[in-house]
Amino acid sequence: MKTYSLIIGGKTVPTYTHMEVRNPASAGVVGMAPKATLEHLEQAVFVADEAYEKWSELSSVQRAEACMAVAQKIEDHAEELAQLITREQGKPLNGNGSRWEVGGAVAWARHTANLDTPIEVLQDNSDGRVELLRKPLGVVGSITPWNYPVLIAVWHILPAIRTGNTVIIKPSPFTPLSTIRLVELINEVLPPGVVNCIAGEDHLGAAMSSHPLIRKIVFTGSCATGQKIMKTAAETMKRLTLEMGGNDAGIVLPDVKPEQIVENLFWGAFLNGGQTCAALKRLYVHESVHEEVCVKLAEFTKRIPVGDGLLEDSLLGPIQNKRQFDKVVDLVEQAKLEGGRVLVGGEIKRKGPGFFYPVTLIADLTNGSRLVDEEQFGPVLPIIRYRDLDEAITLANDNPNGLGGSVWSRDLRRAAEVASKMECGSVWINKHGAIQPNAPFGGTKTSGYGVEFGMEGLKEFTDIQVIFS
Ligand code: NAD
Repeated sequence: MKTYSLIIGGKTVPTYTHMEVRNPASAGVVGMAPKATLEHLEQAVFVADEAYEKWSELSSVQRAEACMAVAQKIEDHAEELAQLITREQGKPLNGNGSRWEVGGAVAWARHTANLDTPIEVLQDNSDGRVELLRKPLGVVGSITPWNYPVLIAVWHILPAIRTGNTVIIKPSPFTPLSTIRLVELINEVLPPGVVNCIAGEDHLGAAMSSHPLIRKIVFTGSCATGQKIMKTAAETMKRLTLEMGGNDAGIVLPDVKPEQIVENLFWGAFLNGGQTCAALKRLYVHESVHEEVCVKLAEFTKRIPVGDGLLEDSLLGPIQNKRQFDKVVDLVEQAKLEGGRVLVGGEIKRKGPGFFYPVTLIADLTNGSRLVDEEQFGPVLPIIRYRDLDEAITLANDNPNGLGGSVWSRDLRRAAEVASKMECGSVWINKHGAIQPNAPFGGTKTSGYGVEFGMEGLKEFTDIQVIFS
């Protein structure tokens, strides 16, 4: 079993204490993760700040080439990273699992490498010339969750370094190993100190959020933690990008043919076993097609192999950790007491180790039930019957979250009209959660602050300076 170290200033830095990282499918120990102290954080800030001086002075072309080299490095080690993700996170190697996650990381890295923020000339006439510059911020602190440890790390690191910042990343204590390995690989192609990794417990994230030399926090995780970060960061006026929880609603219009939408509905809800920020988490279905959608979705669900992610046949794996597993069990048990009708799943039948919970569909609930109102972040979907479309839109919007949403219909114009009434950052039609590197992604309401991806996401890693001459 391997003992991992921190990566600070391009070197591996061992720690005195460690944390066991366990495979959620087998409970076996995957590796020993380092437990950084606040002194390690200070070291990392010092070297990142020092590296910033030269890194920010490189030309845009030089940094673009460096980002391309990072993408290539990840691609060259794709299988190794995928195996490690599966062992610590639980998602299968196949389907939209860890190989897909690493492929996404490569695609996002390449796309980000090709973006640029050249000087914009706002005015050039007899009254004078006005230029808008986008300048890097300095040291960026990245704080990541446990559901996509490599992909989200790339979403944070690449735009930061592309625009001339240096980075300290703190991965989730549940899944630190693949991020450490990623940063180790990145350091094979970047100058020391540009990207550093300090793994450890939650208090490191809080210390990063208040650190005077960290100029920005890019965070992906729960709403509660994002709110704490925003408060802590206020004193030093940090720039913030916060990607937080979602409770995405889907609205199925009466004109659908259920057999044509069940596959996309299923994967929209159960990508990574539902442990995806922008997964479909509440489904509102018109009464005229409700029963048929329920039956067809339940049939489809029964065909999906759930198992240890290291088995090539598995398409879904376990829940990543006990805390999340217990939350899912609690929400389902409560839903049953509230009159929820279990269509499939809903009971733990599997013996042996691992946080396996069956994919579960529950009908006959509505807003006011905890399973509908709260983010389940697991393999459970409430299917809610509605009669009137305006009522469905009101119910969909009746939630503090506003990350994603979807509309399902054969009439694309009608679907787009409904989409525009949904209070969320992204809306998909006849699919759900299909993010891409050229389209900004972020939450409205309590789901986030700022956006990632594309030019809008890149610009969040810069400050504007205007030069008047
Ligand atoms: P979490 O908020 O518990 O932890 C996320 C990270 O924050 C971890 O690295 C953790 O150590 C750190 N942290 C904890 N307390 C902190 C503090 N006080 N200050 C600073 N950092 C602190 O979230 P999680 O359980 O790892 O992830 C699940 C949540 O993430 C879900 O709500 C999900 O919707 C959300 N998520 C959102 C997106 C998105 O893009 N919007 C993507 C993935 C996950």
